[in-house]
Amino acid sequence: MKALQYREIGAPPELVTVPDPEPGPGQVLLKVSAAGVCHSDIAVMSWPESEFPYRLPLTLGHEGAGTIAALGDGVTGVAIGDSVAVYGPWGCGRCAPCAAGKENYCVRATELGIFPPGLGAPGAIAEYLIVDDSRHLEPLDGLDPVRAVPLTDAGLTPYHAIKRSLPKLGPGSTAVVIGAGGLGHVAIQLLRAVSPARVVAMDISDDKLQLARAVGAHETVTSDAKAADRVRELTGGRGATAVFDFVGAEPTVATAGACVAMEGDVTIVGIGGGTLPVGFGVMPFEVTVTAPYWGSRGELREVLDLARAGAVDVHVETFGMDEAPLAYERLHAGKIDGRAVILPNG
Ligand code: NAD
Ligand code: ZN
Ligand code: ZN
Repeated sequence: MKALQYREIGAPPELVTVPDPEPGPGQVLLKVSAAGVCHSDIAVMSWPESEFPYRLPLTLGHEGAGTIAALGDGVTGVAIGDSVAVYGPWGCGRCAPCAAGKENYCVRATELGIFPPGLGAPGAIAEYLIVDDSRHLEPLDGLDPVRAVPLTDAGLTPYHAIKRSLPKLGPGSTAVVIGAGGLGHVAIQLLRAVSPARVVAMDISDDKLQLARAVGAHETVTSDAKAADRVRELTGGRGATAVFDFVGAEPTVATAGACVAMEGDVTIVGIGGGTLPVGFGVMPFEVTVTAPYWGSRGELREVLDLARAGAVDVHVETFGMDEAPLAYERLHAGKIDGRAVILPNG
């Protein structure tokens, strides 16, 4: 089968032919209909050899959806032909966080050598994908796999972040979304769907700000040194109730810290390496700062339910398998509006 692999540190991903995988006991073979392209992969491919945590070659793609093509021995509860989305942050399934569905925070994954597809295990940008356990599959139930596949990360990750801040996002509140890309443009829609907050989107690109407005942002602000002042102006001096930073670089976390309100939340989702000093007097009183990772199985189900209810519609740009390297080039250049989605089986 064809697969898109990261094969050599620092080199671009390559389309290669690899043996067709076969599901072992307990595993499920998925014929991949759609696979999303996340900016995290670009970060992964920028890491030096000394810090690279996975084995190469690595088949990319941690957002996957498809139809079940074969079942390994002992798999029950799903059937060949089912149309499903893959829950990516695989865990052991048995530790305390896993028991609560929070496999993204499995305490044993590292020790057991369990990795998400595309981030250690063979990923979804391939004609077929092995899923380690049927509990990592959510029925699509009528959703189009192409538009739904980004919900497994670009939807789930912001949803988890937003849910934490939801008790604060009441009437009169303001939520700032920094970076209106794959995750950010879904975050705007999720905020509109689950809260009455006024949503302010920030980006460096006018195209992204236009998309932000189209998907429901009330206000847009150019992300520069004056952006925090602009948020203060828009909120009568109080600042933002919650700031979700989908860039996480030094200037954006600084903006987040400078525009958050007293008792507000700063959530750093982007992995741009920025840090925010926390301590008395360096931030407004009682601000909470957090950096979450992905989301829970239950939350993925909720995001898919929101999509079925028509509350979120991912803006996708599709690419054939031969164009998969191009999708990464375009994402790297900031030229993807919404999410790039690869169609490995055409
Ligand atoms: P993307 O490339 O689709 O979107 C990034 C957006 O940020 C673009 O619209 C870009 O124009 C904008 N941007 C860049 N610099 C900016 C700046 N200084 N100010 C404001 N906007 C700026 O990326 P994505 O796939 O949506 O991923 C976003 C980030 O989230 C990445 O860092 C990714 O690695 C990370 N991520 C984290 C998790 C997690 O679990 N914590 C999960 C998925 C992705
Ligand atoms: Zn991702
Ligand atoms: Zn676990």
